[in-house]
Amino acid sequence: MNAFLSIQPLLKSQGVKGRYVHVETISSLLTTFGAVQIGESVDKRPIHAIDMGNGPIKILMWSQMHGNESTATKGLLDALSYLAQQSSLLKPFTLKIIPMLNPDGAAAYTRVNANDIDLNRDALNQTQPESRLLIETYHAFNPQYCFNLHDQRTIFGVNESPCMLSFLAPAKDMEKTITPARESAMGVIGYIQKALQPHIPNQVGRYDDSFNPNCMGDYFMGKGTPTLLFEAGQVGQDYARVETRKWFAFSVLEALKCISLDLHMPSIYFDIPEVEKSFVDVLIQNLMYEGKVIDVALQYVEVLKDEQIHFVPIVHRIGKLDSLQGHKSIDVSSQTFSFLNKLSEGSNAVWLADLLNLTQYSH
Ligand SMILES: [Zn+2]
Repeated sequence: MNAFLSIQPLLKSQGVKGRYVHVETISSLLTTFGAVQIGESVDKRPIHAIDMGNGPIKILMWSQMHGNESTATKGLLDALSYLAQQSSLLKPFTLKIIPMLNPDGAAAYTRVNANDIDLNRDALNQTQPESRLLIETYHAFNPQYCFNLHDQRTIFGVNESPCMLSFLAPAKDMEKTITPARESAMGVIGYIQKALQPHIPNQVGRYDDSFNPNCMGDYFMGKGTPTLLFEAGQVGQDYARVETRKWFAFSVLEALKCISLDLHMPSIYFDIPEVEKSFVDVLIQNLMYEGKVIDVALQYVEVLKDEQIHFVPIVHRIGKLDSLQGHKSIDVSSQTFSFLNKLSEGSNAVWLADLLNLTQYSH
């Protein structure tokens, strides 16, 4: 997919930028792709599906079932824009794509829907119109594969590196049985891993695989459909997740290539390191505070204001934090500060960020 990498900056989908992506943001692309409304959300926002191709292999994809996970949607739209130009790649497939399953959460920039429900914990109960719509679409379309497209928090690392992308072939039971469906999904993920390593070595992880029958992936696996979880993550100061978006789209395209040419590599799957909760946004090391040397971890809370997401620092942990790594790390052992505020976990840390001259991000 190296051709994709050179074309990607020119794709029409690149007009969708920033972390705040909602129905209006993508409406012109929905028109371009001939999307049709297939349902509506709790707050009566439209939910659309895009149909592409008429080949024999049917794949159902959805993104932004968590409304604040927009990188997945942007990466997906880049992949679709590329496929629309490359008809030969599309030929084996009939794709059905729901690019924003939770438009209310997208508008409010929340994980949950307008009823405060996590749609990815509603597979069995099916209490929400958005989860029912996904499951009805699944049954009507009867896909051979499902792609469940998400963003992950900034806390994830693999070994010593930040985790840009993680993947999971979820299990259908507590025993994590390797069913034919799971093996097939593992095989696609193994292939993606092999394709990514030359480009983003050691930044790919295997997502936490505890079984939860209320998650959509586990549910569809239980129905015998290979389902792949894709998670777009954080690396360094790329809070717009521009690099992540590119490799996310690349991964979607590589997955399609693997499926069309039957290049599955399940044996690689368990070699992918499992993600660890090892990163924080900012790690301030060796700070002299009230007569002691401490480390302070800051985490950003993402706040929607004026159509942008502002990354507001909060004191996450205070102590000797050798087990944590920072997307940004600052050793302040050679500096002295006079503190006007007290440090306490959970408190707003804008004043500390100002004191240390940290960049304040908004995207
Ligand atoms: Zn998610």
